[in-house]
Amino acid sequence: MSLLVVGSVAYDGIETPFGKTDRILGGSATYISLTSSYFTKPVNLVGVVGKDFADEDIELLKSKDIDLQGLQIDNSGNTFFWSGKYHYDLNNRDTLDTQLNVFERFDPVIPEAYKDAKFIALGNIEPSLQSKVLDQVSNPGFVVMDTMNFWIEGTPDALKETLKKVDLLVINDSEARELANEPNLLKAAEIVMSMGPTSLIIKKGEHGALLFTGSEIFSAPAYPVIDIFDPTGAGDSFLGGMLGWLAYTDDLSSHNMRRAVIMGSVMASFCVEKFGPERLKDLTEKEIYDRYREFRELSEIPDFDEF
Ligand code: AMP
Repeated sequence: MSLLVVGSVAYDGIETPFGKTDRILGGSATYISLTSSYFTKPVNLVGVVGKDFADEDIELLKSKDIDLQGLQIDNSGNTFFWSGKYHYDLNNRDTLDTQLNVFERFDPVIPEAYKDAKFIALGNIEPSLQSKVLDQVSNPGFVVMDTMNFWIEGTPDALKETLKKVDLLVINDSEARELANEPNLLKAAEIVMSMGPTSLIIKKGEHGALLFTGSEIFSAPAYPVIDIFDPTGAGDSFLGGMLGWLAYTDDLSSHNMRRAVIMGSVMASFCVEKFGPERLKDLTEKEIYDRYREFRELSEIPDFDEF
């Protein structure tokens, strides 16, 4: 099944306690497209880049069969640039610089050929732009969106409008608490789901993720990655792995949603092993499915024999 991905395509400057890079490919749509491309084809990317966007990055995306008809090249400026610094607690990062550049004028125009997409990933962009994407597609079957504190605080009304139109929201625990204005995570989940999405995933960084579907809750473990090098893109890789799996299987049962959450966790665990998207360039099917099985073993809870 084809998948439509809309979000940022960027260059990132990243500093972690383990190293530094001044400029590496990044952006939410980049990570979502790369990770989902391991499961489903075609992945149709809608975004904008500037005159400095390198040919080798275009080639990388193309090599993963990511369709770039929807990638606008705006020669009037440079590609969106973000830089951040992580400390030893890799869950927290300081944003050092955000240069919107051509992204400031981003107007997501969905090419005709993408309009019948069944699966749609709305990366973390302004909620009104996310809505604009949905206004252009004919009959979306399953829409997943990401957001962040910046939009929860800055454009709450537009965010709530968009939430009414999506099937699954993927956010982290602090965002869920802030959006619901409720400290208890279970109560917050209920409040967020009353805003529109029928399913919700709350990511808890290195502590796994919770999936809420109707009245069911699934708790996914976190993979104990020994060599966390750079957490940038982990959230987007989670979303890409998860939605890529759902698009590949075309099965939205709660059983398969659980598999999808683990597939998302698998792709996020690979993402953090190297800088930027480096580790996502040449994964093998065997590596992906082996890690999926490791996740299963990690949380297998033995039953009692005597009861
Ligand atoms: P994640 O680590 O999954 O939250 O995603 C990191 C990616 O988000 C980086 O590659 C950045 O280029 C991108 N990013 C950072 N700030 C923004 C922003 N304000 N809007 C869109 N994308 C952003």
